[in-house]
Amino acid sequence: MILRDKFFIGGQWVSPSSTDTIDVHNAGTGAVMGKVPAGGAKDIDAAVAAARAAFEGWNATPAVQRAEYLQKISDGLKARAAELGSTIAQEVGMPIKLSGRIQAGLPIANFSNYSRLLNDFKFEERIGNSLVVREPVGVVGAITPWNYPLHQIALKVAPALAAGCTVVLKPSEVAPFNAFILAEVIEAAGLPKGVFNLVTGFGPAAGEALVKHPQVDMISFTGSTRAGKRISEVAAQTVKRVALELGGKSASVILEDADLAAAVKGTVTGCYLNSGQTCTALTRMLVPASKYDEAAKLAVEAAKGFTLGDPMSEATRLGPLSSQMQLDRVRDYIKKGVAEGAELLTGGADQPEGLPGGYFVKPTIFGKVKNSMTIAQEEIFGPVLSIIAYQDEEEAIRIANDSPYGLAGAVWSKDDAHAQKVARRIRAGQVDVNGGAFNMNAPFGGFKQSGHGREAGVYGLEEFLEYKSLQLKG
Ligand code: NAD
Repeated sequence: MILRDKFFIGGQWVSPSSTDTIDVHNAGTGAVMGKVPAGGAKDIDAAVAAARAAFEGWNATPAVQRAEYLQKISDGLKARAAELGSTIAQEVGMPIKLSGRIQAGLPIANFSNYSRLLNDFKFEERIGNSLVVREPVGVVGAITPWNYPLHQIALKVAPALAAGCTVVLKPSEVAPFNAFILAEVIEAAGLPKGVFNLVTGFGPAAGEALVKHPQVDMISFTGSTRAGKRISEVAAQTVKRVALELGGKSASVILEDADLAAAVKGTVTGCYLNSGQTCTALTRMLVPASKYDEAAKLAVEAAKGFTLGDPMSEATRLGPLSSQMQLDRVRDYIKKGVAEGAELLTGGADQPEGLPGGYFVKPTIFGKVKNSMTIAQEEIFGPVLSIIAYQDEEEAIRIANDSPYGLAGAVWSKDDAHAQKVARRIRAGQVDVNGGAFNMNAPFGGFKQSGHGREAGVYGLEEFLEYKSLQLKG
């Protein structure tokens, strides 16, 4: 059992204002693996006061020194990489091998990357008679989800600290232990008191208290579109800046001239990563009607390669979902897909054999899906792929864009220029062309109801800066 009973506020481990706690479940077994405090408005008040008090000093700290702290944090996380990988594999359910590489590896890389970017960043420039300076927005409230918990945290905390902001972090209550490890690393790195603060709690209590707080200048939120809408409403009362990284329903457009086998395999892999609990998951596979049968067969074969099992086993390729709530939600969507007339090609809503404990769902593929069906319109956040047939390229583009979301997408064609032409017409923040790799320096964020603002690389740093123009006389 991991028992965390204190918050990190003002450089100290302090007792919460109440004795309420939150149970955290092991995704692979369903058992309670530990507890964290359920913070509320009083705890948030204390954390915001500490962040506000630290702001001026941190802002005045030279950028090269801030960059050194960021590198120290990266080094500290690296020293605890195995513990992070295993903690997150249990909290979230991602297979241990991948969890080490992605869930621990990306945050280590991002803190280090922001150290480097900060050293190169130009905080001012002359425009005519003006000196345009970039200043930190102030105290940042960071609210994060559970699916890539420390990665989402790093994409906010690292650039915010780089910019000169101070931070209050409210991580996901579903996967909070990794955030405590980060707080310990930050403490060991010797950051000035109050620059980084951690309070755990439920969204409507601790989260909303942070969003409402008049001393918080910006909320950087990653999570569901539902919570993002609520956060926008609440934040509007104090006119604070809000950055939203929300859900997605991304299309993988396989063009007539694509290498079908590679494209289908790439799409299934892109859909099932982290058991489908990835905001950029390629959940709609669009194939030419003439190739539908072959594509469906290839997809079912690819799905069979995703061995479902214990996330702590090296042999597992598909872990459980993160929580009972997710399990119920995903099963309901699968039942809805069947009820609305999609063809269940493999998988399904029933309990997989031999895996009685955790939150397991079989790798599932629906064929003959219409884009108007619920499973093609709503974010399922589980290992569920929908195959949609199209008649011509114009129809494929129309279907890809026929979604309230616009986070990601993919295009496949043997002709790169052709793929790029189609990729430019997809209304989404990032589109992979022929399986192009994830780039941590490329801007990441959404069009439409996938949110606004961009994370990662220099674009993510700019999110936390204000412009100021000094009009000079000569
Ligand atoms: P969620 O919206 O339920 O919770 C996210 C965070 O918001 C948690 O910390 C939660 O406590 C908090 N929260 C919830 N309601 C709140 C409120 N009213 N006020 C303040 N805070 C509140 O999302 P989740 O289930 O943790 O994560 C899954 C969602 O996140 C999916 O929709 C996924 O697509 C999205 N996501 C998006 C990105 C991206 O970059 N676009 C990345 C990862 C996940």
